[in-house]
Amino acid sequence: MLNIGCHLSISKGFYKAAQEALSIDANTFQFFTRNPRGGKAKALDLEDIKKAKEVMKLNNFAPILAHAPYTMNLCSAKPDIREFAKNMLKDDLERLAQIPNSLYNFHPGSHTGQGIEKATQQIIDALNESIEKDTNTWILLESMSGKGTEVGRSLEELRQIIDGVNYEKIGVCLDSCHLYSSGYDLVKDLDGVIEKIDDMIGLERVKAFHLNDTKHGLGSNKDRHELIGEGLIGLQPIINIITDPKLAHLPFILETPNDVKGHGEEIKLLKQALGI
Ligand code: FE
Ligand code: FE
Ligand code: ZN
Repeated sequence: MLNIGCHLSISKGFYKAAQEALSIDANTFQFFTRNPRGGKAKALDLEDIKKAKEVMKLNNFAPILAHAPYTMNLCSAKPDIREFAKNMLKDDLERLAQIPNSLYNFHPGSHTGQGIEKATQQIIDALNESIEKDTNTWILLESMSGKGTEVGRSLEELRQIIDGVNYEKIGVCLDSCHLYSSGYDLVKDLDGVIEKIDDMIGLERVKAFHLNDTKHGLGSNKDRHELIGEGLIGLQPIINIITDPKLAHLPFILETPNDVKGHGEEIKLLKQALGI
């Protein structure tokens, strides 16, 4: 069983997105919680969500992934940007309570010059202030490539955030492009990387995986995704990831530079390689 999908638009609702996922032989997908430029998120259509839930259940969907906008920066040096981000986070967590079988993923943020320690504390505080008593969604920190002043470029940085958060369902979403470009050698030493992930985070906190190849090399700290098998990671290491007994159960989301049809071809390629 391979749980795989890609990033899809929910502009026509969740039911349409689930149908679109099925049309490319996917059983999960990722969506943006709101317009990346911010502003108010569209009201949820509960009837649409109910219909989507039925179709996803019927087709054995893995959890779906809600991605916060890239502009949500909980650790900017500017207080108004932090405040704006925190309001988004709160609102997203409230909305996600209505979307069954969903995980919430966000980029920890960019410290914009104030340093990693201060930023880490700001992210922790924002999370602790936004998680309510009845919050029940898994909240995932994405592992980042480390471009600019990005926080979350190493497993140690992610661990520090997790340690400060007073909430059991805090975990990570790994991204193969980001891991590789931040220096984790998924090509030559996948077992070693998985061991580090287990030591530093705990595999039980890894809930999702962004499956991307990369245009830039190991340790480059650059964030440019490439099509599956066409970047510096290559097809076989990607297959090793999705078949690894410690990772194979995860929802794998393609964020490669491709349209939906192209993602369907990538899914086909991977399934063919797995003989499924
Ligand atoms: Fe992301
Ligand atoms: Fe990603
Ligand atoms: Zn990326």
